[in-house]
Amino acid sequence: MSAAGPDPGWLAALADNLACRERLGLGLVRGDLNNLQRLLGRINPDTPQPSTQPSPGQMGRMERPHEAPVKSPGAVSGLAQVRAAMGECTRCPLHEGRRNIVFGKGAENAELMIIGEGPGAEEDRQGLPFVGRAGKLLDRMLAAVGLKTSQVYITNIVKCRPPGNRDPKADEVAACRPFLEEQIQAVSPKIICTLGKPAAGALLGNQAPISALRGNWHRFNGVPVLPMFHPAFLLRQPERKGLAYQDLKALVNALGQGPPEA
Ligand code: URA
Repeated sequence: MSAAGPDPGWLAALADNLACRERLGLGLVRGDLNNLQRLLGRINPDTPQPSTQPSPGQMGRMERPHEAPVKSPGAVSGLAQVRAAMGECTRCPLHEGRRNIVFGKGAENAELMIIGEGPGAEEDRQGLPFVGRAGKLLDRMLAAVGLKTSQVYITNIVKCRPPGNRDPKADEVAACRPFLEEQIQAVSPKIICTLGKPAAGALLGNQAPISALRGNWHRFNGVPVLPMFHPAFLLRQPERKGLAYQDLKALVNALGQGPPEA
């Protein structure tokens, strides 16, 4: 926030995020959205003003960061519904450059959910996460520790490709976050593994370097989270692969299946 007040772009993204959470049936104090939209209205008089009428089931529900969202009856649940709620998303500027929304792939009942930072060029072309060079390395690493694709669901913190593969910006992460949280709820994994600093930082709200986060267990909504190096980083620094394998073995142990046969 600057001395002149919050950045209008950031506020607009937050308002969009809250409106989206509301549509998804996630917990929200109605007044939060109203006040935010009023504030936005002061900054940009073209911003539509909210109705003052709370919708049924939305009164008095409040979320704290990193706490499981409260669902209203009839809220979206399965991955297909979450994808449908996302639609042909235009909630952040990333939609302008995308070919495809890259929602996720894998088993809906996966024990392990892997979260990367955002689609690259090949993912954007195919509409699937981790299908480029980094994805192929990830596949090999998962196979090396005996993890089967049926055990894994893979997605990203943002579903559209950031231009030039830059890190996603805070407003882009915020716009996508309700969908990521809904995906986590739908899959209900035993364990989450984040790949790289942007994914760990966004999910855990922890901006420590990945070298400090990786290999240590964290929690998101009660689900154990193990941050790891991103495979694209491992392609550039293969000498770190040993640490990544240690982390993968820790994941496998935590899933309770023991290490694979040598
Ligand atoms: N890198 C990511 O973080 N996600 C992908 O889907 C591909 C590469």
